[in-house]
Amino acid sequence: MNILRINMHHDDLKMMWVCNKCRSRFVFHSDVDEHRKKTEHLTIEKYDLKSGKLVDSLGAIYGTSMR
Ligand SMILES: [Zn+2]
Repeated sequence: MNILRINMHHDDLKMMWVCNKCRSRFVFHSDVDEHRKKTEHLTIEKYDLKSGKLVDSLGAIYGTSMR
């Protein structure tokens, strides 16, 4: 994995995203965006990387409304 990314999202390395449809895991926000575009899997669950707790479930509005 390439650790040195230029465009780091503020949640990178703090949060983990899991696709609700195929259960793919993502550490980088940019990978989530890419996955959603490629697969049209729009529901992504957001987990706290340290505690492993579900923080948020991002549906179709994801991208336009960040909490
Ligand atoms: Zn997926």
